[in-house]
Amino acid sequence: THFGYETVTEGEKIERVAGVFTSVAESYDRMNDLMSFGWHRVWKDHFVASLNPGFSPLTAGPDPRGPQHILDVAGGTGDIAFRMLHTAHVLNSNPSVHVTISDINRAMLTVGKQRSAVLPASQQAALTFTEANAEDLTRTRPLHPYPSTAAEAASASEDQSFFAPSTATASIPSASLDLYTVAFGIRNFSNIPAALREAHRVLKPGGVFACLEFSKADKHPVFNSLYKEWSFRAIPLIGQLVAADRDSYQYLVESIERFPRQEDFRDMIVEAGFVVAGQGYEDLTGGVAAIHKGMKP
Ligand code: SAM
Repeated sequence: THFGYETVTEGEKIERVAGVFTSVAESYDRMNDLMSFGWHRVWKDHFVASLNPGFSPLTAGPDPRGPQHILDVAGGTGDIAFRMLHTAHVLNSNPSVHVTISDINRAMLTVGKQRSAVLPASQQAALTFTEANAEDLTRTRPLHPYPSTAAEAASASEDQSFFAPSTATASIPSASLDLYTVAFGIRNFSNIPAALREAHRVLKPGGVFACLEFSKADKHPVFNSLYKEWSFRAIPLIGQLVAADRDSYQYLVESIERFPRQEDFRDMIVEAGFVVAGQGYEDLTGGVAAIHKGMKP
C-alpha cells in the first residue's frame, strides 16, 4: 500500500513527502504537463489573474500602499511566483511587489532558482527563496542550493560544507504580508489546520489567503468516473514510463483523493479565522481543481 492509505505519524508523513518531491523535482514540470494535459498552466494563469497582484485601483504610478509582500508557500519550482512577478511588474507596471518562494524541499527550490535565471534582472531582484515548513513559519532559512553545474558539483565535493543547509533561521513576522498563496501544496501538509493558523498569523489585517488545489469533481458523475480512471490508472503509469517513479505519482493521486471536499476545506479556512465571500471557493474544470480564498479581518 501507499502511505496515502496507511496510518502514519506526522514525522513519517513529512519524511515521505520529502522523499516524493526530492525524487520528482527534476521531472516535475514536464510531468505536470503530461498528467493534466497542460491544464495546470490554465489553472495557474487564472489563479494569478484572479489575484491581480500589484494592481492599484488608485493610480497608475507608484503604489500608494507601499511595497506589497507576497509569500508563495510550497512554491516548488516557481510557477506561481514567476506569474505573480510578471503580472505585477509587467502587466500592472508595479515593481514594488516582492515575492518570497518558500518550500520545505531544497531540491524543488533549487530547480526553481535555476529556472528564475531567465527572468529580467528586476524580477530576480524582487524574488527570494526560503526553506520553510508551512506549518511553522517562525523557522525559515535562506535557500542553500544544490550544485547546479558540473563544475560546481566538482568543487562542492571538495568542500562538504557546500551541501550543508544553512543553519541560520528567521521568523516570518506576524502581520507582515499582503498575500499568501499556496498552489497544489496544502494537501501534502501533515497538519493543515496548523498551516492555516500560520497563514493567518503572517498576513496583515486585510491580507488575503489564496489556495489552488486539486479538489472533488463529483458534481458530474460521468466526468468524474472518467477522471478517476485517468488518475488511478494512467498517472502512475505515466510516472513509471516518463519519470521511472511509479510510487511518487501513485502518492500524488492518493493525496488528491484524501484531500477534503470544497465545502469542508472552506470550513477549515473559516475555522482558522478568515472570512470568505459567498461560498468561499471557485471550481475549475468541473471541480478537478478549486480556488479557495479568505481574508484576514
Ligand atoms: N506550488 C508549486 C506548483 O504549483 O507548481 C509546487 C507544487 S508541488 C505539487 C508541492 C510542493 O509542496 C512541493 O514542492 C513540496 O516540497 C511542498 N511541500 C510539501 N509539504 C510541505 C510543507 N509542510 N511545507 C512547505 N512545503 C511543502
